[in-house]
Amino acid sequence: MTELNTKPPIIWLNTIVFLSTFVIAAVGVPLYGYLVGIDSALWWIMLGTICFAGISITAGYHRLWSHKTYDANPVVRFLFAIGGALALQNSALHWSSDHRVHHTHVDDNDKDPYSAKRGFWYSHIGWMLREYQASRYSDYDNVKDLQKDPIVMWQHRHYLALTLLTNFGWPILVGLMVGDVWAALLVVGVLRLVLNHHTTFFINSLAHVWGKQPYTDKNTARDNGVLAFLTFGEGYHNYHHIFSADYRNGIRWYQFDPTKWLIRALSWVGLASNLKRSSGYQVEKARLQMQLQRLQKKAKSAPHTLLEMAQQHYDDMAVQLRQYYQARKKLLDSKAKHLREQVNMDALKAQVDELKASLEQQRRHWKELVSQIKQHA
Ligand SMILES: [Zn+2]
Ligand SMILES: [Zn+2]
Repeated sequence: MTELNTKPPIIWLNTIVFLSTFVIAAVGVPLYGYLVGIDSALWWIMLGTICFAGISITAGYHRLWSHKTYDANPVVRFLFAIGGALALQNSALHWSSDHRVHHTHVDDNDKDPYSAKRGFWYSHIGWMLREYQASRYSDYDNVKDLQKDPIVMWQHRHYLALTLLTNFGWPILVGLMVGDVWAALLVVGVLRLVLNHHTTFFINSLAHVWGKQPYTDKNTARDNGVLAFLTFGEGYHNYHHIFSADYRNGIRWYQFDPTKWLIRALSWVGLASNLKRSSGYQVEKARLQMQLQRLQKKAKSAPHTLLEMAQQHYDDMAVQLRQYYQARKKLLDSKAKHLREQVNMDALKAQVDELKASLEQQRRHWKELVSQIKQHA
């Protein structure tokens, strides 16, 4: 790596924008609040603006454009393009291109644009401060599909104008409404931008070092509920890196994933369609596999027979899981096709129920076995 000897040149525009906005947010906002005062309405408008810009990145840039996990109506895509420009994270085309490389070459220090293995600072913001990937900047080969989306291309062409218009126009408008343009520029403009920036950046930095790895340890990505709260659900990053074609990141009902809720709500009113989900079989199998792997690694002192039992149990469960999810899919498909052959449906339903009950029993046994082996860890 050449940059160890001679670091690539600094990207002054990025450096000045990140540094000046941070200083204004950290010093200018409290100072103005102390000396002049800030209208409480501005905090609420800032919160709403954070949500709009943030979710344009998560539901738009990330789950719609980078990963194509669902299709969206042009009106929705237009709003995401505006919100993305407001978030000041480059055009959707560029962002998605970088992000696809991140997924294909995750943790590869030479190819992953924000490889977590190059350290916290680099993956958080450092990668944008120097010309680390200058040669790739005009290469949009991996987003040819997005080049067919006229809204993506329109945003890409007019990115600078849209960014200036949204980041100055909206706060000024708000300022005129509340009667204090400076306060609005500080709070809805700068502070909001800094909060949006760093919470999104946490996904590349913190979500690759802090949290659990329930699905895979082949990369550094982690699941983290606290980060999910700060990032509209993107904190379930371990799940996301292995099942990136899924429109959900938090797959359990109790996991905080407002981006998923928004996409689902949009589909109910006909503004989103073709929502993709990973098969329950693959998801549960990955989780079990990870547990087994950990047991084998950590509980080396456990009796050999116990570990063998765990392996055997896992193999049996994998077969049962496949049978159960196949039967369930068949039942759902038949329902969808309105096959009203009552007898068949009943038989199918009974089969699914039976498989489900037996699987529940297996899951209980598995848990007992896992805790038994863990005592030897
Ligand atoms: Zn992703
Ligand atoms: Zn990642």
